[in-house]
Amino acid sequence: MPAAEPSSLIVQKTAWTSSGALLLLLAISGLAILGLVFLAAIWAGTQSDAVALDRQRQLVTGRLRDQVQRVSQEVQLIGAGYASLLRTDTAFSDRDAISGNRSVEAFAHVATTVFGYNAAFLVAPSGELALPTDPESVRRFKWVRPLLQPLIRDLETKRKSAPEHAPSTPEPSQVELLRLEGRPSVAGIVSLSDVALADRSRGNQYYLIVFRFLDGDTLDEISREQGLAAARYARTADQEHNEVAYQIEATATGEPIGFIIWEPDLPGSRVIGWLVPVLSAAGLVIAVLFLALVARLRRSLRELSVSEQHARHLSVHDVLTGLPNRALFAASFESCLAAVGSDNDRGAIALVDLDRFKEVNDTYGHAAGDELLQAVVVRISALIGTRDVFARFGGDEFALLLPAIGASGDGHLGICRNVIDSIGQPFKLQTGDAVVQIGCSIGVAVFNEASHAPSEIMRRADVALYDAKHGGRGRVIEYHPSLDHRIVERENLKNELRFLLEEHDEELPVADDPPAGPVGRLEVFYQSIHRCNESADLVGAEALVRWRHPTLGLLAPDRFIEIAEETGMIGPLGEWVLRSAALAAASWAIEVSIAVNVSPSQIRHHDFEARVLKILRETGLSPSRLELELTEASVFDVDEQVQATLRRLRLHGIKIALDDFGTGFSSLSHLLQLNFDRIKIDRSFVSLLGSKAEGTAIVSAVLDLSRTLGKETTAEGVETESQRDFLAAAGCSHLQGYLFSRPVPLAEFAARLQSIRSDRPTAI
Ligand code: C2E
Ligand code: CA
Ligand code: CA
Repeated sequence: MPAAEPSSLIVQKTAWTSSGALLLLLAISGLAILGLVFLAAIWAGTQSDAVALDRQRQLVTGRLRDQVQRVSQEVQLIGAGYASLLRTDTAFSDRDAISGNRSVEAFAHVATTVFGYNAAFLVAPSGELALPTDPESVRRFKWVRPLLQPLIRDLETKRKSAPEHAPSTPEPSQVELLRLEGRPSVAGIVSLSDVALADRSRGNQYYLIVFRFLDGDTLDEISREQGLAAARYARTADQEHNEVAYQIEATATGEPIGFIIWEPDLPGSRVIGWLVPVLSAAGLVIAVLFLALVARLRRSLRELSVSEQHARHLSVHDVLTGLPNRALFAASFESCLAAVGSDNDRGAIALVDLDRFKEVNDTYGHAAGDELLQAVVVRISALIGTRDVFARFGGDEFALLLPAIGASGDGHLGICRNVIDSIGQPFKLQTGDAVVQIGCSIGVAVFNEASHAPSEIMRRADVALYDAKHGGRGRVIEYHPSLDHRIVERENLKNELRFLLEEHDEELPVADDPPAGPVGRLEVFYQSIHRCNESADLVGAEALVRWRHPTLGLLAPDRFIEIAEETGMIGPLGEWVLRSAALAAASWAIEVSIAVNVSPSQIRHHDFEARVLKILRETGLSPSRLELELTEASVFDVDEQVQATLRRLRLHGIKIALDDFGTGFSSLSHLLQLNFDRIKIDRSFVSLLGSKAEGTAIVSAVLDLSRTLGKETTAEGVETESQRDFLAAAGCSHLQGYLFSRPVPLAEFAARLQSIRSDRPTAI
């Protein structure tokens, strides 16, 4: 029902929100931790990269310093070597002599090949190139001379500021980083002082100048030693993004003279590079896991909600018919009552009770009963509106809530009558291949804004239903306060009947004049039964019980038989009627038969047979004069034991009549199986005779059937001569009805028999 859905939706949403939030929190936490790890890794990697880079730079600086150091040592070494070489040369005093000396000439070769310098010059005091003198060297010197000039100057300054030169101390030297021939170079200069001794007076000095390019072999050596990957030299800092540039600065000016560029070894970046895919994969896994969990959560929540809705539906619906049950009906009713807005607005509750459903169930089994209930639901559902609520309370009880029936009018009663008409139509059941005819009674209670509590309205509908059922089925009764009175009255009747029967239990009452107690007395009336012939001979009587009540007057059995059946008092009541009737009949002037009605529960009593026989013995009535009338309901739902009882009773000569034939579910096959002597056609069919074609057809068919089976037939409720004539023509054997006599007190009936006997002294 709609009322159930929203709350289940809220439950689902809440569960989803809280679980979803938890999952989201978990996923965010996971990703945040991952992010922190990532950031920490980046930070640590960057730090470690910076340290590594710094270290590599320091190493390069150190290597360059080593170079300078080495050049400084080497230039002094070479200088000293050449100085001694020159000292032994006599003709060193002039430039030509120097250039002419072969061993001296070899010095450049030594410097370049042995020490690996790219150039070596001996510069004369004049600043001119002394050695070597080959054109290539001359040309190169010419290029570098202006750049070397400051070196010479610096050396001179150093020399002059130094203390007097001692022979043991090395000649001062000057080593600088600078750009020569467009390449970064380390250049060293040393003055050849021993040589200069001869010329010192003239203030002239020879200088040995060597230089080595840093970009060629030196760079290879540095990168090999330091493990610099892809090291190269560049004039400008044109490094790629994965390279670093180390700026080589001129010693004198600090200006950049070139750059060493290499791909630095960055362990941090390496770790980050390794960590990124791992962390990304972990992030991806978390995300996928999160999504999978979310999907899973959604699925299980959906399943949960479906099963919850199913359970909820089951808990408020009837399993067989799928209709709302009593609980859901009550909830709908309460909300409907709350919603009834103005005085003009009215609603109605209609309680529907199937008549004779139990008989179908007992006769054809529960499967047929279930099928019938479902068919009933289909029929009623077709008659009500979409806003109306139709519920099953259990068994054969249904309820209708008609929430808006308008300010006035009795449209709701019209709906109920339609329901009664529809349910009154025959049902064709697959189970048992049967056609059954049932009916229903409806009790209605109308409510409006000013109405009482739901329970009171339900009670009123209940009271109305009670009245509908007990006042003769197949009716719709709307609640009226007077009905409450009837309930009370019925309750009183129940107590009084109990009192009455307890009293009768003591002693067998005098049949023709039973004593009247404080709650009145029971009486048996007799209605004559006639042969269906010209003279309509009186051949028997039916005993019909009455209750002569001190305040309510003469009560017909309809008022109290049902109470007796419901309360289990039908046993003593039936026995009392049988005893009274037998006693009366035994004393009649004419020995006509006496028919006594027997309730279903009576015949099922295990010693029914014994009790009947005992009464016959005690009253002296011949068993052949007794006829027991049983309704179809009582003989159909029979087990072997009841069948055997009927058989034995018949063996004693007692006749069995099938009462109210046509109102139950008798079928030919059933009739054949049963032990009875007479069919009593119900007066509802007899009353149709002459008025409706179908009544004629049914009665004719029943009479044909009885003849075929060799049974006698009594038509009940014959009120008119035309009915009598039709029945006679159709072959009915006996007639009973107001046309001949109403049920009359014993004295009257006995007197009538007496007068018949007097009129016709010969025996019948
Ligand atoms: P029933 O056995 O079908 O009895 C016939 C009923 O039809 C009687 O009603 C009778 O008064 C009524 N009747 C007879 N002829 C006519 C007629 O021409 N027109 C009309 N309209 N009605 C006619 P009554 O006496 O009120 O009994 C009603 C039912 O109560 C009986 O129906 C029977 O089922 C039950 N009953 C009566 N006495 C006893 C009894 O002692 N024991 C049991 N178990 N049931 C009884
Ligand atoms: Ca009867
Ligand atoms: Ca009857």
